[in-house]
Amino acid sequence: MIPRPFAYHAPDTLKGIIALLSLHGDQAKLLAGGHSLLPMMKLRFAGPEHLIDLRLVQELRGIVLAGDEIRIGAMTTEHEVVASSLLAEHVPLLVETARQIADPQVRYRGTIGGDISHGDPGNDHPAVMLALNASFVLAGPSGERIVAAADFLLGTYATAMEQDEVMTQIRIPRPSAGSGACYAKLKRKTGDYATAAAAVVVRLQHNLCAEISIALTNLAPAAMRATAAEAHLLGKSVDEAAIVQAGKLASEACDPAADLRGDEAYKRAMAGQMVQRALRTALKRSYG
Ligand code: FAD
Repeated sequence: MIPRPFAYHAPDTLKGIIALLSLHGDQAKLLAGGHSLLPMMKLRFAGPEHLIDLRLVQELRGIVLAGDEIRIGAMTTEHEVVASSLLAEHVPLLVETARQIADPQVRYRGTIGGDISHGDPGNDHPAVMLALNASFVLAGPSGERIVAAADFLLGTYATAMEQDEVMTQIRIPRPSAGSGACYAKLKRKTGDYATAAAAVVVRLQHNLCAEISIALTNLAPAAMRATAAEAHLLGKSVDEAAIVQAGKLASEACDPAADLRGDEAYKRAMAGQMVQRALRTALKRSYG
């Protein structure tokens, strides 16, 4: 289908974006890579009168290490995430995740900021952001605010971002030395969204679990932390029985919707398997 007519704007400053958002209110939509928004416009699920393209705004690009934080511009593409040596060194989990998103064509245009802002429970970055304790910089007419990933993801296509705000940056605390991480994603075929996926970050100290985060993709209305599974592991020795039990607790806690990828029972079972798989790999990658 053809989208309804719209006016196209391409400001080259952040101020310009915010001015246009303030002027056009809920008649405006931000355009990043377009790989989620344009299909919705073609299906007429979205019909903005004003499309504000973010691609000329240099402030929204770049990946830097600032103290103990990795800062990623919202308009950084998945391809740039995959190719980043800085991310490979400090947050390889993000590189592993981006590599599993869609296909090269989508990754050349799709952005990390768009993936998170869209609020799609099937998108891969939100769960990874939860597991990494990331936060997002949102800019609006009254300045900037920083929102933790846990407070940002409210439900399916629902986030804490206001209509007149734009996500400018993703901030990730540098993972602790010795921690290991993994994103395990089950998909029907290359390029597909997750049937079920789990992000795990783990750190051991004297063979006990000193740090753990487990988050799930496409297993609830929004990406979620598997808190009961985390509590089961924290402070304990992570042996095979503990890994299986953590998978079971995550599978009980999730709330998947039946769709073409499977019914609820299958998805719950796969949630448990993905948690187990990610945990085993993350443990192998950790030391300490
Ligand atoms: P757009 O489509 O341009 O925007 C999406 C939404 O976010 C819009 O509402 C827009 O207004 C808003 N937005 C964008 N940037 C900002 C910002 N900086 N601040 C505020 N709001 C903003 N994704 C996955 O995670 N995993 C997959 O396996 C996967 N498979 C895919 C397969 C195909 C065939 C396709 C077409 C897409 C797939 N995607 C997948 C989605 C893809 O990653 C999208 O690129 C992503 O969801 C949106 O990013 P975008 O830059 O294209 O954003």
